[in-house]
Amino acid sequence: MRSFDAIIIGAGQAGPALAGRLSDAGLSVAIIERHHVGGTCVNTGCRPTKTLVASAYAIHTAQRGADYGFSAGPVEVDMKAVAARAEKIIRDGRAGNENWLLGMANVELIRGHARFESSIVVSVDGERLTAPRIFINVGGRAVVPDMPGVDQVPILTNTDIVALDTLPRHLVVIGGSYIGLEFAQMYRRFGAEVTVVERMDRLITREDPDVSDAVRQILEAEGITIRTGADCIGFARSGENIEVRVDCAEDARPIVASHVLMAVGRRPNTDDLGLEAAGVAVDGRGYITVDDRLETSVPGIWALGDCNGRGAFTHTAYNDFEIVAANLLDGEDRRVSQRLPGYALYIDPPLARVGMTEAEAAKSGRRLLQSKRPMSRVGRAVEKGETQGFMKVVADADTRRILGAAILGTSGDEAIHGILDMMNADQTIETLRWAVPIHPTVSELIPTLLLDLAPR
Ligand SMILES: Cc1cc2nc3c(=O)[nH]c(=O)nc-3n(C[C@H](O)[C@H](O)[C@H](O)COP(=O)(O)OP(=O)(O)OC[C@H]3O[C@@H](n4cnc5c(N)ncnc54)[C@H](O)[C@@H]3O)c2cc1C
Repeated sequence: MRSFDAIIIGAGQAGPALAGRLSDAGLSVAIIERHHVGGTCVNTGCRPTKTLVASAYAIHTAQRGADYGFSAGPVEVDMKAVAARAEKIIRDGRAGNENWLLGMANVELIRGHARFESSIVVSVDGERLTAPRIFINVGGRAVVPDMPGVDQVPILTNTDIVALDTLPRHLVVIGGSYIGLEFAQMYRRFGAEVTVVERMDRLITREDPDVSDAVRQILEAEGITIRTGADCIGFARSGENIEVRVDCAEDARPIVASHVLMAVGRRPNTDDLGLEAAGVAVDGRGYITVDDRLETSVPGIWALGDCNGRGAFTHTAYNDFEIVAANLLDGEDRRVSQRLPGYALYIDPPLARVGMTEAEAAKSGRRLLQSKRPMSRVGRAVEKGETQGFMKVVADADTRRILGAAILGTSGDEAIHGILDMMNADQTIETLRWAVPIHPTVSELIPTLLLDLAPR
């Protein structure tokens, strides 16, 4: 049995950074990875999707040449080149992460599947390792629900589709939420016919209805078919094609797809980790139960990133690392409950969000102020010819603090940080009164938005 000061299971978005801090503190670390260093984000998530979104944006802009006063001729998409660009960016990211890990003193990268034998022993392909501190950073994977016929047809998940180098004739995306919508829009822009099938009565149901409706309009305007309220989703082979059933009604005709992407949610990689042997508790969906400092039910074992169910993003996984490192190494008392929720949906224009939705704020029983501005009244958006969407903010009338905001609009993913930073700094809505934002930017309208706040 080999002994280390710390074992990290999974080299995703929290593990490598934590290995670096532990190594800097002079501790010996084993970091175990069963697949690609960098995890989901680098290999099958953020990085490839944002690369593909960039290709799709460039294609779309070229097709809108007439709006800007040029003609690029017929735009032809080379899916092999599009995929090769993403593949290179994945490989570079992975290699960068690997080299970073390999360059750390006292850190050993061990390849293989880790499984707990007890609360201090982990086995990797027959080799046994022990440490007094174990950090679990195993991430998650796409859920493929047991829908009728799902095992009779080829089903793509995010892992498969980021590697696709051909154009589907007709892509059906099951799931009208964050991951599904990014793929839906990019494949439409690459030239595929695209249908989004969603069980609920609107897209991205966690968002406010006005946000869902605006996103739907943007996607439909590009020729994406959206089927909400889909019932009895099922699949059958039909020669080369896949029949996707979306309705139980007798005359409901199936959609004839060439490809199907399953994007209905994620599940944690905790089912094959031997957590029972360590006594680590999980919730009903397999997420590892953690306290506010990310320690599990077993002292000396922590869970970071998507597998603890407290976040579902790269920045939340990285923040988990920051919390654990600050508490263990810097004598701080950081807690996950101090984290402000923020994220973006990278359709074009992007949807950026921070804090509560308007519906959540209304439910909280506070006296509310609200302000909303269409992007058609944002100078920079007009100049760029990208006026779809709106920005809105909701605030507490008594504390004069912002409760949440949404920017569905060009550069919204960057501009939201003006609001996110104010909320983090716990500042009132008057704080930006005398700020002099740069003109012309999307951010320059944030002080105006705040000054326009009125009782809801
Ligand atoms: C299509 C898609 C797009 C996304 N886009 C964004 C985005 O734009 N922005 C954003 O913030 N987030 C995005 N995400 C989410 C983001 O990828 C994840 O939140 C993030 O990767 C979570 O990091 P993690 O460290 O928790 O897990 P992961 O990155 O999944 O890493 C976990 C690692 O653990 C390894 N592992 C698992 N089990 C074992 C085991 N038993 N033994 C050894 N190794 C093991 C895995 O191989 C993996 O490498 C996206 C996700 C998807 C699927």
